[in-house]
Amino acid sequence: MTTAALIVAAGRGTRAGGEMPKQWQTVAGRMMAEHTVARFADHAEVGPIVLVLHPDDMAMAAHFPGVTCVPGGATRDASVSQGLDALSETPVDRVLIHDVARPCVSDRIISDVIAALETSSGAAPALAVTDALWRGERGQVSGTRDRAGLYRAQTPQGFRFAEILAAHRAHPGGAADDVEVARAAGLSVAITEGDERNIKITTPGDFARAEKLLRGQMDIRTGQGYDVHAFEEGDHVILCGVRIPHTRKLKGHSDADVGMHALTDAIYGALADGDIGQHFPPSDMKWKGAESDIFLRHAVSRATERGFAIANVDVTLICERPKIGPHAPAMRDALAGIMGIGVDRISVKATTSERLGFTGREEGIAAMAVATLIKG
Ligand code: MG
Repeated sequence: MTTAALIVAAGRGTRAGGEMPKQWQTVAGRMMAEHTVARFADHAEVGPIVLVLHPDDMAMAAHFPGVTCVPGGATRDASVSQGLDALSETPVDRVLIHDVARPCVSDRIISDVIAALETSSGAAPALAVTDALWRGERGQVSGTRDRAGLYRAQTPQGFRFAEILAAHRAHPGGAADDVEVARAAGLSVAITEGDERNIKITTPGDFARAEKLLRGQMDIRTGQGYDVHAFEEGDHVILCGVRIPHTRKLKGHSDADVGMHALTDAIYGALADGDIGQHFPPSDMKWKGAESDIFLRHAVSRATERGFAIANVDVTLICERPKIGPHAPAMRDALAGIMGIGVDRISVKATTSERLGFTGREEGIAAMAVATLIKG
């Protein structure tokens, strides 16, 4: 079963304040739309993802690799229809239609909607109304209303794909949400349990609340790595991807890039995902003489696959010679290229050990690294 996500981000969101539409404003370190897309991209049962953008915002598609971005219409209905049309070109069994302004949606809410679609044409999260309901006129209560059986609707609203596509094509327009479109076509819609934290960002105050909720859900991890390689006869060393002429070389199964090995282990460490020797056993001849960027690229991809971004890394090389300082900018550039992050997030520094110990006697080079990974 394939479950697509269709995220509607074509509105102008003027009530939220700010100079640009709310979906492009930053909340908890990322654009609101990036948080929302990540919620679905990180869910094990969801894919592909379609993001419906305002026709003036199509350039924002560059921020969403792997997501199909399509231009929306003049109304929410029209935008959803455009997204459904885009999905109709691929085999999709179910679709979850979600407002971009709900970036705090949880895995549990998404899973519950998907599960309910086993037995119902449609399913959507909602919360029972618990406050008393009044009718008001000119600041005066003019009547009361029984709240029994009333719900506050949330998204994602999930449907069997072919049924909601037909429902949208038949609908005259003007519906408040997709449940209304589905019901107009006679589809049944099950109510799943909503969550007070699944807020729709509408006003400036909602941004502050979403910021708190999203920061609370962030997964921040730190890992450390340490490595040593001995010197042997040779005429150059490779450190953090940079070849440096030297009177000796480092001994090792691969290219012996001690700095990159420590850094690779720091990333594995943050993920609690073993170490370099486990992923690339020295007993395996295939890694003999390997360039160490293979290892680092692997660790970075393990992080990315699990939804982590690398916030920063810090590598310390411990040796008397060669002098590292003049090469540090090239090392940072090399690591930035391999890891696909900005050079301002990469530190490479060096120290001697005051001629003490094996590094002081110039028998080898040691390296330490720390990496911080973040998912939010
Ligand atoms: Mg090593």
